Amino acid sequence: MTQTISLPAHEWPQLEPGWVWLCGAGPGDPGLLTLHALNALRQADVVIYDALVQEAILDWAPQAEHIYAGKRGGKPSAVQRDISLQLVELARAGKRVLRLKGGDPFVFGRGGEEAQTLVQHNVPVRIIPGISAGIGGLAYAGIPVTHRDVNQSVTFITGHDQSGNATGSLNWQAISDGSQVLVIYMGMKHIAQISAKLISAGRPKSEPVAVVTSATTTEQRVLETTLGSIVDDIATSRMEPPAIICVGASVLMRQVLDWQGMAAGIPPRNLDPLGRGKPAESPS
Ligand code: SAH
Repeated sequence: MTQTISLPAHEWPQLEPGWVWLCGAGPGDPGLLTLHALNALRQADVVIYDALVQEAILDWAPQAEHIYAGKRGGKPSAVQRDISLQLVELARAGKRVLRLKGGDPFVFGRGGEEAQTLVQHNVPVRIIPGISAGIGGLAYAGIPVTHRDVNQSVTFITGHDQSGNATGSLNWQAISDGSQVLVIYMGMKHIAQISAKLISAGRPKSEPVAVVTSATTTEQRVLETTLGSIVDDIATSRMEPPAIICVGASVLMRQVLDWQGMAAGIPPRNLDPLGRGKPAESPS
């Protein structure tokens, strides 16, 4: 049975007929939706959603028509241009349209392209950010995307460029030199090339790496490995996308911050994995 969740009292925006709200659904766990997303789900006539949006989230819009526009899962793929034009058509038909995308719509999600097409066709839009898998997914694995003792910058990378099958347009030397922590989206297919490029650019083979698949869902799996062993370890583990791959010493923090493991009764492996000898925040 579908449960209605009421929103707290607030001046919530109205999703008007003819509008498209481009909304992030977060990385998976429905609890990671924003309140704006929930407000949108309750008002939409149509929800156009991607493969990575959990079915449970769609259940929160029982009044709406649900249209699948994903690109995986064995279902036929929708062409990006067709999705954008379908949004235009639905808006012109006077529907209240909710375009729901995994994570954040503007992080490797083609949200910019869809929104631009809508604006070019004079369709009014609202953008609702979401929690991106590269931040929230790592947090569910107990990995802080920044940590004062580890990194002052973080680089988000796509493992697929526009052609969908190469990483050739990236300057791996600059990435390797410039950022202590790398967060790689869509990296599974080309992980052999990516790890080889990072190693030849000078990152040590022993550098910690985590692979988090289906992060924040009940299927979440986490592999801790190193840059030198990642290819073999992924093959042995038979892990499947979607995956976030994190390269850098912040991965070690999982030894003390695997909060899901701790909740299940597994004690932390190491209270000081960076070897500082005292917690970073302790008085000197
Ligand atoms: N807009 C999304 C990213 C879309 S690109 C966001 O902000 O999160 C799709 C890629 O995102 C996947 O190939 C994978 O690398 C990553 N991803 C999305 N959801 C994920 C999840 N639950 N677990 C692991 N990776 C995920």
